[in-house]
Amino acid sequence: MTQAARVEPILNDVLSASWERISDKLKALYGDAVFRSWLKPLRFAGTNNNKIQLSVPTRFMREWITSHYGDDIRNFWQLESEAQSLEIEFVVGAQTAVATNAVSDQHSNVVTPQSWQSNEAPDNILQMGAALDPRYTFDNFVVGKPNELAHAAARRVSESAQVVSGCNPLFLYGGVGLGKTHLMHAIAWHIRLTNPKRRVMYLSAEKFMYQFIKALRFKEALAFKEQFRSVDVLMIDDVQFISGKDSTQEEFFHTFNALVDQNKQLVISGDRSPSDLEGIEERVRSRLGWGLVADIHTTSYELRLGILQSKIEQMHGIEIPPKVLEFLAHKITSNVRELEGALNRVVAHTTLVGRAVTLEGTQEVLHDLLRANDRPVSIEDIQKQVASHYNIKVSDMHSARRSRVVARPRQVAMYLSKKFTSKSLPEIGRKFGGKDHTTVMHAVKRVDELMGNDAEFAKDLELLSKMLQN
Ligand code: ADP
Ligand code: MG
Repeated sequence: MTQAARVEPILNDVLSASWERISDKLKALYGDAVFRSWLKPLRFAGTNNNKIQLSVPTRFMREWITSHYGDDIRNFWQLESEAQSLEIEFVVGAQTAVATNAVSDQHSNVVTPQSWQSNEAPDNILQMGAALDPRYTFDNFVVGKPNELAHAAARRVSESAQVVSGCNPLFLYGGVGLGKTHLMHAIAWHIRLTNPKRRVMYLSAEKFMYQFIKALRFKEALAFKEQFRSVDVLMIDDVQFISGKDSTQEEFFHTFNALVDQNKQLVISGDRSPSDLEGIEERVRSRLGWGLVADIHTTSYELRLGILQSKIEQMHGIEIPPKVLEFLAHKITSNVRELEGALNRVVAHTTLVGRAVTLEGTQEVLHDLLRANDRPVSIEDIQKQVASHYNIKVSDMHSARRSRVVARPRQVAMYLSKKFTSKSLPEIGRKFGGKDHTTVMHAVKRVDELMGNDAEFAKDLELLSKMLQN
């Protein structure tokens, strides 16, 4: 029995749904013809040692797909997998449905689907840019304090018929999974819809680099420049990727300047502010910061809850108790992508088992994610929190004073240290002014007893625990 067969059926279902979405994206990215010839025959075949397996009908196809589409497929999986890193393996497999238009091994070196050639024909604007995700619109973007500036600026840019003064470039920055790409696509969709004559081009900095290098190789650098310079709105995502690549930076800089001089709108995103970008020349960095620099902050509880509610509304007919949504918003704090991933998993689970979602069920389905989102709490954090809660000095945590006013909070802090950290009793004792491990043991026991006898005290401790977990 293969390992793949033993993997939880739920996980496989989720991954298989992911693969369907990725498949759609690949189709949008490469066009029908290429998709039919090469990508459609790919099947999600399970997992093996944490590697995702995609099966292909023939060896030749495996080589071809790996070298031509492997990176995009990998990137799309990365997007789907809630930012966990996953490895992908292409296996030549029997389970694969026979490809309608597949190329057989024997003819491998001569057969090239015609569609491939036509699709690689001289770039035009649309091909040079990347496909837009239809879900990434303003309608689907939930606005809250952490992203309101970026959102407002994005809206301004998308609604204006010409370059927005003071906003050129618009530089959006923030950590991974906080909505930069979503906002950029939303700008592009909005312009396409309301002002189709404006030529919008969106692409990642990586793709920019790739196109540039390709143009150089095929001696098409001039055409390359012309194409970029003929757009009205140029959006480059994840600009941090051009760091360290001197010639691309140079080209980027020239394109950038040419567009600004011609009064064209630029929208750039990065994972940090222009001044913090490393490996990027000073003049490029300062140029990036000339317009409006809008920071997308990490999400707040309210925003996370709002996003969950909006996603649920979009999945007509799915019922998730408010308690579960609140729990998710409370627990999955890293970024929106993970939050979405968690919600999707919960939804997939309930639709599969056909039972109402419960808090316990949710915890079970998400145990790995929840663990990853639990930030480690240090003994120092605990001492600080407890001291401030009981209104004593942090130094009292280390003292030998036995007065009840300080002794009880100290015991509470020891108890919480045992509960929330992986430190041993002697280690904990040392952090409390060099106390013996038996003292810590005694404290833990005492607090346990008190919680049993004193509801008020138990509530107090619950509150402290909650605060520590945030
Ligand atoms: P980034 O480009 O900053 O890494 P993305 O734009 O790819 O992040 O966002 C990650 C996921 O989270 C996407 O699926 C996006 O739709 C979603 N998302 C992020 N912010 C919001 C928001 N404010 N409202 C709704 N969905 C959001
Ligand atoms: Mg992005």
